Amino acid sequence: MTNPFVQRSNALSSPQKKRIQQSRKLIKMLYAHGSLAVADISKAVSISVPSAARLIEEMIEAGFIESIGQGISGGGRRPQLFALKAEGGMVIGVDIRRNLINVGAMNLHNQLVGELTTLHTPLENNEGYFQLLTKTVKEKIKEIKPLTNHILGIGVALPGLINTETGHSYTNLNIFDTPLRKVLERMLGIPVYLDNDARLMALAELVFGKAKGLRNVLCLNVGAGLGMGMIINGELFHGSTGFAGEFGHTNYGQNEPLCSCGQHGCLEWYAGGPGLLKMAKEYETTEPGFPLDVDNITEEAISGNQPAIKMINTLGLNLGRGLANLVHLMNPEMIILGGSISRSGFILSEPAEKTMRANSISHINEHTKIETSEIIELAPLLGAQALVISKSF
Ligand SMILES: [Zn+2]
Repeated sequence: MTNPFVQRSNALSSPQKKRIQQSRKLIKMLYAHGSLAVADISKAVSISVPSAARLIEEMIEAGFIESIGQGISGGGRRPQLFALKAEGGMVIGVDIRRNLINVGAMNLHNQLVGELTTLHTPLENNEGYFQLLTKTVKEKIKEIKPLTNHILGIGVALPGLINTETGHSYTNLNIFDTPLRKVLERMLGIPVYLDNDARLMALAELVFGKAKGLRNVLCLNVGAGLGMGMIINGELFHGSTGFAGEFGHTNYGQNEPLCSCGQHGCLEWYAGGPGLLKMAKEYETTEPGFPLDVDNITEEAISGNQPAIKMINTLGLNLGRGLANLVHLMNPEMIILGGSISRSGFILSEPAEKTMRANSISHINEHTKIETSEIIELAPLLGAQALVISKSF
């Protein structure tokens, strides 16, 4: 069964529409709070206690929620508590990177269900890649269908320029006349939502990670490229046409090779994946066999390889200068370093913090913390989960 909340609204009567709104509110409340008693639900949804009890019954029948026993008494009888059923709904998350695809299913308790499917394949803008992607997602749908009554949607995180409202992807998989989101929905028969990978990583930090409860946070994706998701006033910031956060393509120098965006001197050639690969290629001419892959260079640095450590240190020093600009512009309370190169921890964060502080006004930067993400690997999938949940209810 697909998401029952995605229905043609013109086919519904007013009471039906109202009931769907109440059901959505109930699920959102339970998702945010974990468990609630009937009295709390009646208050939160603004309906009488008997109506709340009926709504709960309906949602239990629909398979979304369950009774989880009794809570602490406020004086009288101990109240019955209700929570979302883990398998009541599932989300398929698709994490498309420049060198791999991860496809995973998550339940309403934000837990990964079954194994993550990982394909090591370079991102290509052609029909063959698209077929491989959809085949993998179809297999995941087949795998989880028997485990849930509701597949709520598919959340897709991918690099490049995305307009999340229209569902257009302008940089990658832009091989169709119709928006990528529509093409995928037609093929898979399930609602699809997509957004830029760095933005979904920022959403994951906001909902599950270090940005939880904070208002102004910049989340960097230091990986194959250099992306950024911005949380402004507690919300994900998209910009006027959905392209905000292209930090890696801000101008830094003059003499670097032509960037994928068509410009020269982009910051990602100094402080992101292209910059790291450039250093590795130069070094490899004297040390044949040195890895020429961002993930492997990071692994080498983590295991103590000095040249790899030095390269990531240099990347961090350059990154910090870029961050100083961001601190002046945005006055963030926290900058979170995520993405595969950030797995190197302080090897990247220490030099980045050093140059950020040295190149920005101390009165501004003294309130900005630099942190390394604790959800680096799963962040795109967690962000995809949060996106689908926010759109489903
Ligand atoms: Zn560029």
